[in-house]
Amino acid sequence: MSAPALPDVPTTLLIGGSWRPAAGGATFPVDNPATGQALIEVADAGVPDALDAIRAAADAQQALAALSPAQRAALLRRVEAALRDRTDEIALLITLEMGKPIAESRGEVGYAADFFGWFADEALRIGGDYRLAPTGLTRILVQHKAVGPCLLITPWNFPLAMGARKIAPAIAAGCPSVLKPAEQTPLTSLLLARIIEESGAPPGAVNVLTTSRPAEAVGAVIDSGLARKLSFTGSTEVGKLLLARCAAQVMRTSMELGGNAPFIVCADADLDEAVEGALLAKMRNIGQACTAANRFIVAESLAGEFTSRLAKRMGALTVAAGWLDGSQVGPLIDDAAVEKFDRLVRDALDRGATVETGAVPAIGRFVTPTVLSGVAPGTALLDEEIFGPLAPITTFRAEEEAVRAANGTPYGLVSYVYTRDLRRALRLVGSLATGMVGVNSGVVSNAAAPFGGVKQSGLGREGGFEGIAEYLDTTYAAIPV
Ligand code: NAD
Repeated sequence: MSAPALPDVPTTLLIGGSWRPAAGGATFPVDNPATGQALIEVADAGVPDALDAIRAAADAQQALAALSPAQRAALLRRVEAALRDRTDEIALLITLEMGKPIAESRGEVGYAADFFGWFADEALRIGGDYRLAPTGLTRILVQHKAVGPCLLITPWNFPLAMGARKIAPAIAAGCPSVLKPAEQTPLTSLLLARIIEESGAPPGAVNVLTTSRPAEAVGAVIDSGLARKLSFTGSTEVGKLLLARCAAQVMRTSMELGGNAPFIVCADADLDEAVEGALLAKMRNIGQACTAANRFIVAESLAGEFTSRLAKRMGALTVAAGWLDGSQVGPLIDDAAVEKFDRLVRDALDRGATVETGAVPAIGRFVTPTVLSGVAPGTALLDEEIFGPLAPITTFRAEEEAVRAANGTPYGLVSYVYTRDLRRALRLVGSLATGMVGVNSGVVSNAAAPFGGVKQSGLGREGGFEGIAEYLDTTYAAIPV
């Protein structure tokens, strides 16, 4: 299979405004998941590079703070415009290193640009407030200031959007950063950093560390004491390790972690809408999204019809390399993801699940969209984050049963509810232990919304008014009258 040519992209580290190789010159390959072939080699940062990067961020704090809110907003607007202008080039890069269909990559570029636009406006709204002490004798002036240098760690599944959700509010708040992208997809972050640099960011405002040894490089940055905040998006397992490490420095943290989204279809749901929403919530990003519907919990009276319609739609999707016309389902990210997909299907079948579509052997990293019904409690795919195009269907009779099943997980990122009854919808929104709910919608995320989870899905929010607050400290002055 021959892939389109790789767009022009930096392959070295960005530290203090200089593009430079890793100390010692080490590199590591970045694969195209559709072909399994290496696309290019990028710099493999070690501990000395990591320390240089966080020092460069700390050195840039003053230059960034010297920019007025209007100047920071204008910088973010220029980044937004450049992303929109260069959509085709960036989308191709995302598809080549991550695998998703090109139409979805274009959507990701637009989504990332939205965050630069949103936080350009938020940069202008960093305010404070004035209070009077109960005695009436002291005025209190509350201010919000940049927390300081930030370490931003992103996963591979949305190579542009996850960086955008962190860098845009960091710049808006006046925080310099070190961005550490996932080793599977460093290229999009390098290109984003170049675009931010070309848009006029002060040297050192954004530094990029690509590394195949994340534990060492990240550990060095945290232990340096120079980073004042960590914003991490990735698995709950790694998030817990990093929380423990940050505790020693008493660092601020935002954690966007794993999910196990329930998708509840009530007996009064509009079936057409529910199937459409299910397809979106399950298949976006080849099922490799923290917001992916992981468990379908369907009213018994509708289950047969819902299952056969969803299976028909999922079975008709075009599985092909993401750059090919008409591709709707690209490859999984790596061989381990394919092995996990196969293991989860086998386990469900061993426990008596019925195949409605799919469940055929993978070809390379391309797996077939699969729907399984009659999935028994205790089946591994109900407990684990699937991260692939696999839809397990379970049924319920009473609403409380659906809520109990939906909440029966350590995760609490997003839930989906389909019903035509407003009261039922509001009741479910209230009783689901989750950070976000899609009510008759298979998509919840946008720049204005405070994206994030409860329980082991994380701490903090990205987007909305809340997004910038994660990068601001509160200080006040007490002024006797
Ligand atoms: P991951 O946890 O393996 O890796 C995430 C990042 O952490 C990568 O940059 C990786 O290099 C780094 N990392 C890995 N081990 C590390 C260590 N020991 N020390 C320091 N850094 C380390 O996750 P992934 O496989 O890249 O991404 C998939 C996961 O991300 C899923 O669980 C998914 O749900 C989650 N995710 C969550 C959100 C959200 O907003 N809640 C969004 C996207 C993805």
